[in-house]
Amino acid sequence: MAELKVVVAGAGGRMGAANIRAVAAQAGLSLHAAVDRVGADAIGQDAGLFAGIAAQGVTITDDLDVALVGADIIIDFTAPQASVALAARVADLGLVHIIGTTGCSEADDAAIAQSAKDGARIVKSGNFSMGMVVLTNLVEKAAAALADYDIDILEMHHNRKVDAPSGTALMLGEAAAKGRDISLKAHAVRVRDGHTGPRETGTIGFATLRGGTVVGDHSVILAGPGERIELGHRAEDRSIFANGAARAALWAADQQPGLYSMVDVLGLND
Ligand code: NAP
Repeated sequence: MAELKVVVAGAGGRMGAANIRAVAAQAGLSLHAAVDRVGADAIGQDAGLFAGIAAQGVTITDDLDVALVGADIIIDFTAPQASVALAARVADLGLVHIIGTTGCSEADDAAIAQSAKDGARIVKSGNFSMGMVVLTNLVEKAAAALADYDIDILEMHHNRKVDAPSGTALMLGEAAAKGRDISLKAHAVRVRDGHTGPRETGTIGFATLRGGTVVGDHSVILAGPGERIELGHRAEDRSIFANGAARAALWAADQQPGLYSMVDVLGLND
């Protein structure tokens, strides 16, 4: 079977480099192009050498139009405005779009969902690691079983991260809300500052730490009378996200247009 041709967007970024390595190593995928924005330092470099592996014969470019010619899949860990614009292009071309970008607004997510209706095959997740899919499932169950326990989600990331709470923390919040059959939007407390008064029953709190080179630590704490349960995940290497994205890309190539999650990719939807 012919290999599927992948464009890595945001190729000059931390996840861009991890995605180049993952695509190069994944049977069934081949690196077709690597793009970044005009003026990015990585433009003009060989994608493989840039990512610390053997030369791939693919030069990182800022010409998206040329990069998309003949492509099957775009793996995109960039920024919300870039992912929204890419999704619209992908819909026109009927390609697969793997979106790892976090920090999307409701309007961004609505635009991406529209692109999925318009012909794109999109897998979007705030965290592409296998371990996080399992943790999300556990959090949903724990939140349902311990219905009157207070839930707070604590996360720490490196000092270059630009959005907060992390996409993963919000995913975990959604899982807890689903377990309780409530809306996260209506129950989330994303910041606490000053004289906050006592904790409001039924809320789901978030706390954010930033520093150093931390790839991603998440803890979900369920606190009840006289005990606490902590469910956690520590990402040690960006390859866990990139390998999950490559797996999602292979899976999505056989799907109908639509918007999917890692739960769909792993067949855990029952
Ligand atoms: P990064 O190192 O800053 O890389 C982002 C890349 O995207 C950079 O090369 C950047 O170019 C490029 N970019 C930014 N805005 C762009 C635009 N408008 N058009 C085209 N390219 C643009 O960040 P990162 O750590 O790789 O993370 C990237 C995203 O993935 C973030 O949203 C992060 O939270 C998310 N992430 C998701 C997962 C997951 O599993 N879902 C895991 C890790 C990270 P410049 O450097 O020139 O700005």
